[in-house]
Amino acid sequence: MLAARGPDAKILAGGQSLMPLMNMRLVRPAVLVDINHIRSLAYMRMENGQLAIGAVARARDVELWPAARERCPILAEALRWVGHAEIRNRGTVCGSLAHADPAAELPVVAVALDAELTAESVRGRRTIPAARFFLSVLTTALEADEVLTEVRMPALTPGAGWGFVEFARRRGDFALAAVAALLERGSDGVCTRARVVLGGMDATPRRAERAEQSLVGERLTKERFAAAGREAATSLEPPGDVHASAEYRRKLAAVLVERALAAAADRLPREG
Ligand code: FAD
Repeated sequence: MLAARGPDAKILAGGQSLMPLMNMRLVRPAVLVDINHIRSLAYMRMENGQLAIGAVARARDVELWPAARERCPILAEALRWVGHAEIRNRGTVCGSLAHADPAAELPVVAVALDAELTAESVRGRRTIPAARFFLSVLTTALEADEVLTEVRMPALTPGAGWGFVEFARRRGDFALAAVAALLERGSDGVCTRARVVLGGMDATPRRAERAEQSLVGERLTKERFAAAGREAATSLEPPGDVHASAEYRRKLAAVLVERALAAAADRLPREG
């Protein structure tokens, strides 16, 4: 159907974003391709250290999946921030990624974890790294005839610390700002790996690479987290709108980066 109708056709997954857009007449697809009954795409399984999540797996099922909680708790935590339980009962993980809202939580986590996304069409199958999947507001690397059939989220490295923090005016709203942070530390107490990704600040999830670099090779202290937050915020040009000014969002980014890093450090194994 997608190959035949191209941009006139839209996939219907959980409908939690598509139906509101259709209600408001912001999109008017000629054809809806309902994938909800393709049971073979409803899977969640651990494979080669990755959480493989099919296109019809519901957000709430992934959130409650023991493997997600144990092996990839940053994903389970981020899911708790996606709307409300009713929305997660219906909405899909792949649908959220394909929708690519700049303030959505799951794209931030996908980029932080270096997730891999599988796109399939009548032309074949390809894997797209999360870093190249999100192109702009509600725009991804998927072609009009492609279905996002699966996302693979790597399990956290044993010994990694993680933090996911968000600020929204009301619980369940899209994030004004969200931050995912991952930290690893060597036996000498020095940081060996840092990953910081922000949502709500730009058209797509933004990696704060200079903030990450400021931590690697250093001991992890509160002062360094505050400095990393300031560093992350300087390169941002967030949007200003009715919900918050650009300046407010930039300040929020600095605070949330600091908090996400502190949360990640708290979850690292004790030194020595
Ligand atoms: P759908 O709505 O069915 O589809 C969304 C778009 O993605 C459509 O263009 C569709 O064609 C395309 N699509 C879906 N699946 C695929 C696929 N497998 N391959 C290719 N294209 C596909 N989201 C958040 O992230 N954070 C929030 O805080 C949040 N709050 C919400 C609050 C409310 C009140 C509501 C109604 C929604 C909220 N959402 C939020 C959105 C929700 O998470 C959606 O479920 C999600 O964004 C889209 O998933 P879906 O399965 O419902 O996709």
